[in-house]
Amino acid sequence: MTLSNHKYSLQELQAQDAAHFLHPFTDHKELRAHGSRMIVRGEGPFIYDSEGGELLDAMAGLWCVNIGYGRDELADVAAAQMRELPYYNAFFKCATPAPVQLSAKLAELAPPNINQVFYGSSGSESNDTAVRLVRHYWALEGKPEKNIIISRHNAYHGSTLAGVSLGGMSHMHKQMGGMVPNIVHVMEPYAYGLALPGESDDDFGLRAAGAIEEAVLAAGADKVAAFIGEPVMGAGGVRIPPASYWPEVQRICSKYDILVMLDEVITGYGRTGEWFAATTFGIEADTITTAKALTSGYQPLSALLIGDRIASTLVEKGGEFNHGYTYSGHPVCCAVALKNLEIIENEGLVERVRNDTGPYLAEALAGRLNDHPLVGQTRSVGLMGAVEIVRDKGERTRFKPDGSAAIKVRDHAVQNGLMIRATGDTLIMSPPLVWTRDTIDLALDRLLVALDLAEAELAPLR
Ligand code: PLP
Repeated sequence: MTLSNHKYSLQELQAQDAAHFLHPFTDHKELRAHGSRMIVRGEGPFIYDSEGGELLDAMAGLWCVNIGYGRDELADVAAAQMRELPYYNAFFKCATPAPVQLSAKLAELAPPNINQVFYGSSGSESNDTAVRLVRHYWALEGKPEKNIIISRHNAYHGSTLAGVSLGGMSHMHKQMGGMVPNIVHVMEPYAYGLALPGESDDDFGLRAAGAIEEAVLAAGADKVAAFIGEPVMGAGGVRIPPASYWPEVQRICSKYDILVMLDEVITGYGRTGEWFAATTFGIEADTITTAKALTSGYQPLSALLIGDRIASTLVEKGGEFNHGYTYSGHPVCCAVALKNLEIIENEGLVERVRNDTGPYLAEALAGRLNDHPLVGQTRSVGLMGAVEIVRDKGERTRFKPDGSAAIKVRDHAVQNGLMIRATGDTLIMSPPLVWTRDTIDLALDRLLVALDLAEAELAPLR
């Protein structure tokens, strides 16, 4: 029996895991052949496995642990709230203090047109709420037929039925057995992969936004309720749109009176160097879906931030909105969120990303990685970055269509103490906002080792 941290038996846990735990987004047969790595502890930017292995966590868990691991303040606030009032619902004309106070705080932090909040427990749930809400809005406005939502190929909006349908992941669509109706998908603003030879990024951005206008005209503007997009496509590969894209999307949405739904489940709460990426990209949104970093992942909580246009119709004309979850406004989660936001503010993490670590990450990625034979492009916004793994830099060709080259780099990175993710042939990172320049240097040291090891194996395939 392997004993680790004198607390866990890896073998025993792996056996129980294989016998009973169906993991998300996992090939279970393959996982069971190898066994899970047990992550048992976190401290600051590091996580530790059951065998004592240390990993620098370049993914902040799953894009969420923005204030880093091991923060006693959040544990203390959760324990205090649980002792005082572990739960009460927000149905039937009741409220508890924490979600009320959190809503006021979120209204203060959000862009000026946003002053109302509807809670869920996950990004997926809040995207479901957003779909219901925008369709309900148009029905209240006397236009129930204005209910199509335009999204993008390769978008990720979650794993509920509405989340998958909004998302543009074809491998997820294949397992749906029927999509939520009246959602259409257009091209994504991924210049590195989709721009034509000789087309500038800005021209490409206008062309990608133009696909939305084409979809509006094809359906009829009186049928289109909203456009939904992640300001930066996260799970799809940290795809940062060209500067021309969002202003053109906004113009098109205004022209045809289409609501703008932003999915900031990844980008919310400081990731791009502003509280919301809406500010980074100058987007005025009618709804902003947030989750993850709202509590830095210490509790499951999502918040749909709702603009005045929708909220005033809902309040003035609405009657009952027949929607909500047992845990909408859970007091423990909301108390933890309030403390988390206080920490982000007190430690100046948003400003640090904007003025220091964000620009430093961009420079370090380009300066240290761009010349590597495997690297086709690096890009980042705030503390959110991507590295394209290619066979031929000039031609932008890949080794294999299955993304196995990036997985090879990822595996070497993990072996060398860096937890990073591969999606297709793109390595992606989204570290805790508490990273410093030194942490960025350490991450890139480890990534360079991984790139060199992978290059040695891949070079013969060129
Ligand atoms: N929207 C975006 C942009 C996401 O990245 C995610 C998850 O990664 C979701 C929605 C779904 O959030 P959750 O997994 O909390 O349901």
